[in-house]
Amino acid sequence: MLAILPSQKAMVPFVSVENMMRLVHHIGIEVMLRELADAIEQDFQRWESFDKKARVASHSEDGVIELMPTSDGQVYSFKYVNGHPGNTQSGLQTVTAFGLLADVATGYPVLLTEMTLLTALRTAATSAMAARHLAPKDARTMAVIGNGAQAEFQALAMKAVCGIDTIRLYDIDPDATEKMRRNLRGRGLQIIPCASAEEAVAGCQIITTCTADKQFATILTDNMVGPGVHINAIGGDCPGKTELHRDILLRSDVFVEYPPQTRIEGEIQQMAPDFPVTEFWRVVTGDAVGRRDDRQITLFDSVGFAIEDFSALRYVRDRIKGTDFCIELDMIADPDEPRDLFGMLLRAG
Ligand code: NAD
Repeated sequence: MLAILPSQKAMVPFVSVENMMRLVHHIGIEVMLRELADAIEQDFQRWESFDKKARVASHSEDGVIELMPTSDGQVYSFKYVNGHPGNTQSGLQTVTAFGLLADVATGYPVLLTEMTLLTALRTAATSAMAARHLAPKDARTMAVIGNGAQAEFQALAMKAVCGIDTIRLYDIDPDATEKMRRNLRGRGLQIIPCASAEEAVAGCQIITTCTADKQFATILTDNMVGPGVHINAIGGDCPGKTELHRDILLRSDVFVEYPPQTRIEGEIQQMAPDFPVTEFWRVVTGDAVGRRDDRQITLFDSVGFAIEDFSALRYVRDRIKGTDFCIELDMIADPDEPRDLFGMLLRAG
């Protein structure tokens, strides 16, 4: 006979968009970006303990939908994320996401959360974490080309983590630049809107490209990149979607997250399959050199990797403990007697 066990409902903490915004304001966005950069760096330090695979992508004419899983053997995570450059024309986001963390020992979810905001935060924190190792130490000025949803996060992370104090902005749509200028007013950054990408990069030590266009675009040409610059290339993250002229790659030391994914999705998809790159985690652990000298051009060919989402998810799990920044979600059917799933259904009738 099946024993009747006391009720143990497996409620899953859920962080809505509203609660994520409360959490960010509670912590303070620059503190959160710094803490996220540190959390991601800690996980890059133990890169080899993660189960890694290139994300599973479903491409269509308009964009891509992707699943990004990873695990460190104790905790498992995945993110659902899309990329649809045409979405903004109909009032929708280019990138939206949600994600889940689960206990490997039982397979039970321990966190479900919005990740549209969290992706912007973790992408910016990852960029800043890479720039902390690769950009010139005295970098104070950054160009931001593409002033859409990711852009303010990128600017604030570079300020909080690397000490950037001046940003030079360019977007083909002046309204996007004006939105960014307005949003960042009073945050301790000098903001200089520019009339072209050429004008924006003048005198910058860091260049961030975060445009969205489903094509082999040329946001930067070779002549725009001087010696010593660090390029943080965010927007080329899908087959057939790049931002840099290939000649820039030939002059740069290229750092990537996970080569099997970046060779398909990153700027280096333009190059031969054996084009030399450095896995960025090796710089973090000291196995590889980042910036060698002040004339070297460094390029972080960012596409976004599952371990960064894992870090962001475990950070949120820890940060919401003991707060009301989540609600309990009844999403796992968990009868008192594990084999009596049907009985639980009958009793509900
Ligand atoms: P968005 O659509 O909100 O903004 C993109 C901006 O780029 C728009 O304002 C657009 O006018 C501008 N733009 C397009 N073509 C341009 C050009 N030729 N020159 C200057 N500006 C141009 O998109 P978003 O959410 O800010 O994302 C930006 C890019 O970053 C996307 O391609 C997205 O896929 C990518 N992304 C990468 C990561 C990562 O981890 N690497 C994470 C999130 C997003």
